[in-house]
Amino acid sequence: MIDIETFTSDAKEWLDNNVEPRSTNEKGQREPTWGEGEFSVSVFHNLTFEEEKAVIDEVVAWTNKKAEIGYHKITWGPEYGGMGLTNEHEKAFHKLEAQYAIPDGHETHSVTTHLMAPTIKLLGTDQQKKDWVAKWAAAEELCCQLFSEPGAGSDLANVSTKAERDGDEWILNGQKVWSSGAQFSPWGMAVCRTDNELAKHKGITVFVIPMDAEGLEVRQIRQMSGGTSFNEVFFTDVRVPDTYRIGDLGEGWKVALTVLGFERGSSNGSTRVGGNWVQVKALAQHLGVADDPLIRDDLAQLYIQYRVMALNNQRVAAQTKIGQAPGPEGSISKMIWVKSMNLMSDVVTKILGPRITADTGEWGTFGWNEHLLGAPGYRIAGGSDEIQRNIVGERVLGLPGEPRVDKNIPFKDIPK
Ligand SMILES: Cc1cc2nc3c(=O)[nH]c(=O)nc-3n(C[C@H](O)[C@H](O)[C@H](O)COP(=O)(O)OP(=O)(O)OC[C@H]3O[C@@H](n4cnc5c(N)ncnc54)[C@H](O)[C@@H]3O)c2cc1C
Repeated sequence: MIDIETFTSDAKEWLDNNVEPRSTNEKGQREPTWGEGEFSVSVFHNLTFEEEKAVIDEVVAWTNKKAEIGYHKITWGPEYGGMGLTNEHEKAFHKLEAQYAIPDGHETHSVTTHLMAPTIKLLGTDQQKKDWVAKWAAAEELCCQLFSEPGAGSDLANVSTKAERDGDEWILNGQKVWSSGAQFSPWGMAVCRTDNELAKHKGITVFVIPMDAEGLEVRQIRQMSGGTSFNEVFFTDVRVPDTYRIGDLGEGWKVALTVLGFERGSSNGSTRVGGNWVQVKALAQHLGVADDPLIRDDLAQLYIQYRVMALNNQRVAAQTKIGQAPGPEGSISKMIWVKSMNLMSDVVTKILGPRITADTGEWGTFGWNEHLLGAPGYRIAGGSDEIQRNIVGERVLGLPGEPRVDKNIPFKDIPK
């Protein structure tokens, strides 16, 4: 196996040839110079369809480029387009890559490459692995997550989108909601009810859905931060071949938990969304409040919060390194990340005062409203704060479980 030094030097040469280094300011630091360049601290994109598509195209093109060598999935085997190397190689590449002006991420891209591709790799049939894993890992095609419904979010096992068997096909009827990026994805992975007679966790099956199937309608939802990241997806007699079923009939809960496990593992602040500490510090300095004792106290709290997040992520990385699967630490990481983002909103609001409510055109000020309006969304996405606390309470602290009165009764008998 290639040693880390040779790997890193090859990767550096490849990066030098394929992407510009991240720009530095006049002091040679990567900190931005106040007033220069585009200012964006948005958590969700406030863009038109075409603009958002362009953002996705950029990150997809970069992943496609990396996939020519295998840099997109360094630890995966060559059969899936990877390099078959270790976590250390991957870490070394990411550290290096961060020094270059690579495109910003996009949720639909990460859902496809970090959630859907690994799930099919783990649980798909040989044919499904052949058809989808390498393509999705390289983001050649995108796949959205069709899990939540109006009556099933935190309680995902309550899904009622029905899939009924008809020969070699399934007929789907129902509705999904909050489906991020469904308008850009040729594929979706849907959790469906296949048996009403069984208890709610048992009568569920997961299918991959071609999003251009007849009877499938995607309607965009406008959000308070602007933009339309989410959609409602309606199924009216949508036909899906049985070969698109993931896992055995009635094994959908296991598949869903696998996807959610990958989701919690990746919701830890490693995604670059919203503002960062360096930008907050620059804001306080620019507005001349960095010496105000109360603001200094807030800045210190914020800095501590981000250090705690980094240290917790290191703890998770260390566990992965010795081969331990991430456990409830994923919930802790997610809660720390979300708390940090929302604390940042509070600190920035104090620093900006009225500037956060009206756009004067001043660089780097009103733009923070996109952080403020977007950050609360992540208190809900990927399992709300309350649900993460339940996980920590039950699985880490050993507190008594929640009363689950509908656990063992047939789904059809649960009062709706
Ligand atoms: C940014 C974002 C992106 C998303 N992307 C997708 C996507 O791509 N695909 C998809 O399928 N879904 C997606 N979702 C939906 C997300 O998974 C759900 O919103 C989430 O699971 C919560 O479900 P809900 O909205 O139905 O709220 P509910 O489950 O109805 O919860 C309402 C409130 O009750 C609380 N609550 C519920 N149950 C308990 C309990 N047992 N104990 C204590 N408190 C409880 C919750 O914490 C919350 O505060 C996304 C959501 C967001 C915000």
